[in-house]
Amino acid sequence: MFETLEAAPPDPILGLTQTFLADPRPEKVNLGVGVFKDAQGKTPVLDSVRTAQRRVIDAEQSKSYLPIDGPAELGVLTRALLFGQDSDLVRDGRAFTACTPGGTGALRVAADLIHEAYPGASVWLSDPTWANHGGIFQAAGLPQRQYAYLDHKTNGLAFDRMPASLLQAKPGDVVVLHGCCHNPTGVDPTPDQWAQIAAMLAERRVLVVVDLAYQGFGDGLEADVVGLRMLCEALPELLVCSSYSKNFGVYRDRVGALTAVAPTAEAAQAAASRLKRCIRRNYSNPAAVGPLTVEAVLGDPELRAQWEHELGAMRKRIAELRQAFQDGLDAAGVRLNEQGNGFITQQRGMFTLTGLPKTAVERLREEHAVYVVGSGRINVAGLCEQSIPRVCGAMASVLAG
Ligand code: PMP
Repeated sequence: MFETLEAAPPDPILGLTQTFLADPRPEKVNLGVGVFKDAQGKTPVLDSVRTAQRRVIDAEQSKSYLPIDGPAELGVLTRALLFGQDSDLVRDGRAFTACTPGGTGALRVAADLIHEAYPGASVWLSDPTWANHGGIFQAAGLPQRQYAYLDHKTNGLAFDRMPASLLQAKPGDVVVLHGCCHNPTGVDPTPDQWAQIAAMLAERRVLVVVDLAYQGFGDGLEADVVGLRMLCEALPELLVCSSYSKNFGVYRDRVGALTAVAPTAEAAQAAASRLKRCIRRNYSNPAAVGPLTVEAVLGDPELRAQWEHELGAMRKRIAELRQAFQDGLDAAGVRLNEQGNGFITQQRGMFTLTGLPKTAVERLREEHAVYVVGSGRINVAGLCEQSIPRVCGAMASVLAG
């Protein structure tokens, strides 16, 4: 059978890393995959995580299975991060959390549940969105539509078009929103715009899925869930797919969570049972060391304070890199937008969409060993002080023709 099988194309983001690794040029820069890098160009293990992981391994008495939904305490701690320490919906038992293999695992389980329970639903994704969203929902058998999101003229939110296109969603459809630090654009709604989006979606009676992969990378742990909490106020139910990959730097350990919010505690239990069945049929139950490590950090006041400090330092570095990149482009005479490069510091999180045409992206890679995703997305957190002048110079050169 495999002899007649047509090969699938390489993944647009992880496939690029494979090409990057095989590139012998020492000056190469990978701005593709979304991982944080420090001033030395390394993706470090956080000190809080290293300490917690040692504790977890030392205390481990057994390698027996975890429950289908993972460590229960991580669920409690995740809900507190998402909804706040004194959340009414948590107190009322309206939320259920399963620990999943990363945010991707959460999205796939959510997609399976939606397909099983609401087979007629279409999934509305932002235009543009993370390259893997389409594939995940397609693999679960769900048809997709797009809603307006990025205004290419300003590199800001297309709020003149977004509400109208969301209104095309039918009751019972699914709308995926990025909780903060939108990937790939870096463009987030303001609190005022979030309030309008929440009210509109409530009236539309759609199921909202919030993809939250960067809590703490934008303006802070609490500030980054302002939109999510407004949605919870306005909507009786929603799904949250959160990831600890970035804010704990535990990318390869695969730690995420799927949280279902339901109108009542009974409905939450029903959703929980269905989600657990989806998980059992998919990967059965999650791995232990990564989730238990995150749980150990969040549950210990000292480690948690240390983590918040380390997260704050990553957030600060990303903001500084955004400024340095914007300044570097200005200095190299590159204008990514008719209105200049100011959008780069207005955006949040790791990414910005440069608007570079495909040919320029190819020339950056071939002539300058600068690796950018085909869509023109740049991981600003993959830059460093030394590489910025060279990257900006390379961009000037490929744009000059
Ligand atoms: N959603 C978005 C928007 C992301 O950017 C990512 C990570 N690139 C994920 C989900 C999945 O993250 P994880 O690595 O935890 O699966």
